[in-house]
Amino acid sequence: MNVAAVRPAVIAKTPADQRVVPNLRDAERRSFSWPAMRAELDGLPGGGINIAWETVERHARGARRERVALRWLGRTGGRRDITYAELSRASNRFANALRGLGIGKGDRVFVLSERVPELYFTALGTLKNGSVLSPLFSAFGPEPIRTRLTLGDAKVLVTTEGLYRKKVASIAAGVPTLQHVVLIGTGQGTGAIEGTLGFDALLAGAGEEFEIERTVEEDPALLHFTSGTTGTPKGALHVHGAALMHYMTGKYALDLHAEDVFWCTADPGWVTGTSYGIIAPLLHGVTSIIDEADFDAQRWYEILATQAVSVWYTAPTAIRMLMKAGVELARARRYPALRFIASVGEPLNPEAVWWGQEAFGMPIHDNWWQTETGGIMIANTPDMDIKPGSMGRPLPGVQACIVHRDAAGGIAVVDESNVEGELALKAGWPSMFRGYLHQEERYRKCFLGDLYLTGDLAKRDRDGYYWFVGRADDVIKSAGHLIGPFEVESALMEHPAVAEAGVIGKPDPVSGETVKAFVSLHAGHEPSEELKLTLLGFARKRLGAAVAPKEIDFLATLPRTRSGKIMRRLLKARELGLPEGDTSTLEASA
Ligand code: AMP
Repeated sequence: MNVAAVRPAVIAKTPADQRVVPNLRDAERRSFSWPAMRAELDGLPGGGINIAWETVERHARGARRERVALRWLGRTGGRRDITYAELSRASNRFANALRGLGIGKGDRVFVLSERVPELYFTALGTLKNGSVLSPLFSAFGPEPIRTRLTLGDAKVLVTTEGLYRKKVASIAAGVPTLQHVVLIGTGQGTGAIEGTLGFDALLAGAGEEFEIERTVEEDPALLHFTSGTTGTPKGALHVHGAALMHYMTGKYALDLHAEDVFWCTADPGWVTGTSYGIIAPLLHGVTSIIDEADFDAQRWYEILATQAVSVWYTAPTAIRMLMKAGVELARARRYPALRFIASVGEPLNPEAVWWGQEAFGMPIHDNWWQTETGGIMIANTPDMDIKPGSMGRPLPGVQACIVHRDAAGGIAVVDESNVEGELALKAGWPSMFRGYLHQEERYRKCFLGDLYLTGDLAKRDRDGYYWFVGRADDVIKSAGHLIGPFEVESALMEHPAVAEAGVIGKPDPVSGETVKAFVSLHAGHEPSEELKLTLLGFARKRLGAAVAPKEIDFLATLPRTRSGKIMRRLLKARELGLPEGDTSTLEASA
């Protein structure tokens, strides 16, 4: 019998499913207001708001000071518990160190590091200093790192000695604004590598007391890079007032309660790993697990069980990898503390939702947001019935709709249900991005009237649940990471054999999509297996494993529009054997 065939379309929740009373129920939905939510945060003494105060200081000065804020699990074993009081002292030291270096409010501090405690001290110390934090993913290669440091006017880069030697040393001199490189883990203090500072030495020389820089709601706090179809990556700026959204979503979408042990598996190099791997759990004063190691099914089950994780936030690719490892592995352990599982970043297929039931006795709750929204917008919350395959419903304080664009550049809101269109959000939620750094025009184009246009296609059903349909553009989502085809094409084009390159996302059962490139060659170069491997290696060295193509095919020419744009849509249709759609703008030769 086909089990899937008898699965109901809705997973109904009953009070028996709730281990604790959910923070969000109908009453809270009805009475929700942003000012009431804001009243649950402190604000800075004397006025203003600072994310680091709300996440660390207010707990470090209160009843939770000795509670473990971060429990760090080392890659090769070992564990370090960092209390709120300790986190306060370490981040104060880093803030003092920044101030001592002449780095002030609004200056951009980048961090490129594996998940080690110093990354978190850097993040929170930077926010205390009123500087803007920009985290980069440690699996980026030198090229994406250089691009982002340059676009973001980086003044400080905190990284590890290993990453510095491998990825930064060759590009640092080309970033004109960069004043200081601070190395974690040299253990030898300042000057271990010429032109750099040692993290430990810097902190050892800095005081433990720090008065947080006065910041207000609209002061920039975070800079997250995201990718578009064309052009350079976009630096989405977020403000200190975003803490309110992180708090609200931590409370309602992740259902954090005071005694929870929370584990967000995302890396802080991506927006989820900052908003929910650093900020939201600390806002709620819970214990947050940080695992230094990469994905490993056995290890993950062990962490869930032995660390008594109660709320777990992960991603569809990870869930699919766990599914691949077999449900028996999951069932080999017991997870008495686990009560809520959520997922984000890519479509969560119904199979994965149901697999949660099989493996853990509870479904997985999908939710939707993006770098620009800064926080979760649409969610399956604990009290809601789940429709597997749906992203859920807008959270309180969030207004979503489906729109159609017309030829004249206007939009019409679609009232009917089950009609596909672009997902739009009423502008003005607290963590809405406040700009693409240095790209005002690109930012403005995201808004029409009072709506922010997300670039995602979706539909809404009669019960108000949203269903993801696809992206309206050509960006690629691989293992939950957004990849801009243009960045990959540009890197390939730097190889002397490559005349043109077109990059697409190729559907993959585990990672959602993999990056596939098509290239045509300059005269004098012939396609060969050897050249393919050379190009794969070339791209990987420049772009890093997270961004580089996994597959390359040679084509005599790439299909282009008459205005010269590579038709990635057509490359994709041909690759997948799908109808080619409208090719009226295709250049004659392709
Ligand atoms: P990023 O800005 O890197 O977080 O990527 C955001 C994009 O990821 C969204 O615009 C969607 O295309 C996709 N995405 C995020 N969450 C979901 C979800 N629950 N279902 C489907 N796609 C998602």
